[in-house]
This record gives sequence, C-alpha cells and structure tokens, in this order.
Amino acid sequence: MDCIIVGAGPSGASAAYHLAKKGHSVLILEKASLPRSKTCGGGVSPAITQWLDLDFNQVIDNTITQVEFTWQMGDRVTAELNHEAPMWMVKRDKFDNFLREKAQEQGAKVQDKTEVQNVKLEGNNWQITTNQGIFNSRYLIAADGVNSQVAKMLGFKLNKPSLGGNLEINAPIPEAKKHTAYFDFGTLKNGYIWTFTKSDGYTINGGFFKGNGNSKELETKLKEYAKNLGFDLNQSQYQEYNLGVWQGNQNLHTKGALLVGEAARLADPISGEGIRPGIFSGVQAAEAIDQALAGNDKALAEYTDIINEKLGKDLVLASRLGGLFYQFTKIAYKAGVKRPAFATIMSKVLTGELGYSDITEAAINRLKKSLIPGN
Ligand SMILES: Cc1cc2nc3c(=O)[nH]c(=O)nc-3n(C[C@H](O)[C@H](O)[C@H](O)COP(=O)(O)OP(=O)(O)OC[C@H]3O[C@@H](n4cnc5c(N)ncnc54)[C@H](O)[C@@H]3O)c2cc1C
Repeated sequence: MDCIIVGAGPSGASAAYHLAKKGHSVLILEKASLPRSKTCGGGVSPAITQWLDLDFNQVIDNTITQVEFTWQMGDRVTAELNHEAPMWMVKRDKFDNFLREKAQEQGAKVQDKTEVQNVKLEGNNWQITTNQGIFNSRYLIAADGVNSQVAKMLGFKLNKPSLGGNLEINAPIPEAKKHTAYFDFGTLKNGYIWTFTKSDGYTINGGFFKGNGNSKELETKLKEYAKNLGFDLNQSQYQEYNLGVWQGNQNLHTKGALLVGEAARLADPISGEGIRPGIFSGVQAAEAIDQALAGNDKALAEYTDIINEKLGKDLVLASRLGGLFYQFTKIAYKAGVKRPAFATIMSKVLTGELGYSDITEAAINRLKKSLIPGN
C-alpha cells in the first residue's frame, strides 16, 4: 500500500480522494462504524470546491443567507450576506460519507471498525497494528482528529484542545428564518454561541476560544440559551467534543508521515471552523505524498512549510484578533460586529474571498480606538 490514512473525517477522505485520483494505492482505517456522525455545527464554506472538484448538492442540507448577531441575547442586529450561498449547512454523517464514497470511487479502500493501536516504522515501511490485524504502507497520514492518538504515537506533542459542545434541537423553523444563522456573544464567556438552521431543526453550538473551558458551564449556558429561546429541551440532545484550534505554527511531518486536520490543530481560533482547513490540509498532504512517491525527499518537509505559509500566516492574525476579541467582547461587539459593513466582511471571509490578513489590522485599530475613553 502506498499510503494508509487513519480517520475517515473530511481531512482523511480528502487526502484519500486525491491520492487515489493520482493512481496511488490508499487505505483509510476508521475506528467507528461508517457512516459515523461527529459533534459539529455543520457549517461548511463553499470555498472547498476550489480543492475538490465534486458536486456537493446532494449533501447540502440548507444554505445560510442571513445572519443575526446578539449581545447576551439582546441588542440584536440582522444582516443579509452578500453572496448567493456564503455558507452551506451539512449533516456530518452524510457529508463525511459522501467524501469517503467519492474517494472509494477513485479507487481508495476503506475499512471501518478498525482502530489503530500502534504504528512502527520498519525500514522504510509503516507497520500499523489495529484491532483487526496488522497493515503495511509506505506512507502514513494521521487524520484521526482532535484526540489524535496517532500523532502521539509518532512523537508529536499536541497543544491542549479547547472544549465545544452542541444541542441538536428537533423543531420546525419559521419560513422567514429558514436561512438564518445566529451568533451570540457575551452569554458564554471566553467563547460564543452559534446556532445553525438545518432542514429539520437547529444546532446550537458553543465553544471556548480563550482560557480553560468548563464542561458544566458549557452545558448549562447552552441549555439556558435554548430555554430562553423557548425550545423544549426534551426534544434536544446535548453532546460535547474537543476542538483542536490553531495555537501556533508547528512541525507537521516526520519520516514517512504527516498530520492533517484537527490532528494538526488547524481549526480557526476565532470561529472554530475546522472543515475547510482540514480539507485544505488533506489535499496538500496528498500532493506531498504523491511527490515523495515520485522521489522528492523534501516533499514532506515542504508540506509543513505550505501549511504554515498558507494557513499559519492567516491563523496567527486570527489568533491575535481572537485574543483581543474574547478579552473585550462587549466593546468588540459594539465597535465591530454591529457595524453595517461587518456582515459583508464576514460573508467574504466565509467564502474565502477575504483572509484575516485583509481585515485584522483595521479591526485591531478600530478595537484599540474604542478602548480609549471618549470614543
Ligand atoms: C461543537 C462543535 C461545533 C463545530 N462546528 C463546526 C462548523 O460549524 N464548521 C466547521 O468547519 N467546523 C466545526 N467544528 C470543527 C469540525 O467538526 C472539525 O474541525 C472536523 O471534524 C475535523 O475534521 P478531521 O477530518 O480532522 O477529524 P474528524 O472529523 O474528527 O475525523 C477523525 C476520524 O478519525 C477516527 N479515529 C480516531 N482515532 C482513530 C484510531 N485510533 N483509529 C482509527 N480511526 C480513528 C474518528 O473516529 C473520526 O472518524 C466544530 C467542532 C465542535 C466540537
């Protein structure tokens, strides 16, 4: 086998799709029984189509064209997003399954209910021990998500993850609000609450992006928030999951192996968006392994450079902006989020038309000005 990928999430499936498309033998090992779901808001930027030439229509459950912001559930602003469909809503079981099937159509093999328990480099080949026996491959990709054991087995030290959680609520959505996403600041300290509308209800998500998140506080705040909106909690399901947000550039390769997605801590440190950077890293990992198989012995090191250059450059700014935003959330809400231009900027960030490098300086200056008394 040319490459074994551990994990059938969006990062692993994207890497498998491209490796198989280039004619390489590739096997995904996945511990869950597929299709599996994942605690997630399911907001996906259509920007992913620049890296995956696929028709996603069958897995787009809803689209978001309007956003509503609140400060502690009050001081409401609503804005139209200026693009046709700046954000897709997906159900993770269907979306992830679709990507995995597309990889299989290209020739990738997938084995589920197979948990990787150990990895060992024997000469130039990986020996991968699982609960279903031993597998061998030339290259290895750790796409096993935020709680990656494979990254640890490879000797990487992962940053402590943040905490996220959500409430899935089965409830009819009024026609006028079917395409609205809600963002609430101030209710959850050091983080925010984002609510996405799906075809059959709402996903109310919360995450901490600064400091240490407390599980009890997260659940209590999300439930209070849902109750205040009039939702019946008996129709809801609460789930928690770690969130692997970017905290600094790091080495993402070792001899014969790469880290991708949340195993590489690539989620956005302001918003928690992890699917788009995960897919990007999967695609880049496939490119690097393709080149390594062709004899380029610097290709894996170049993967680290590309991710740090293409994502890290933007994420370092996101991290700076997020640090200030979550420290001075109330002022940031009044000075930034409530501005009429904010929704336009946000829709461009979501579609990938703008990066943090285009907006951070102005946003930090505006925030600093607002911190001066009298402004
Ligand atoms: C509450 C919450 C809301 C979120 N909302 C959004 C959102 O709206 N939009 C967005 O873009 N991102 C969101 N995210 C982040 C997003 O869910 C992740 O960034 C994304 O799933 C990461 O993809 P991945 O492919 O790296 O890993 P995952 O999707 O986590 O996939 C990893 C896979 O590896 C498998 N695995 C793990 N260990 C092993 C092993 N030892 N052997 C074999 N298989 C293994 C797992 O079973 C899993 O299937 C949210 C996260 C949280 C917690």
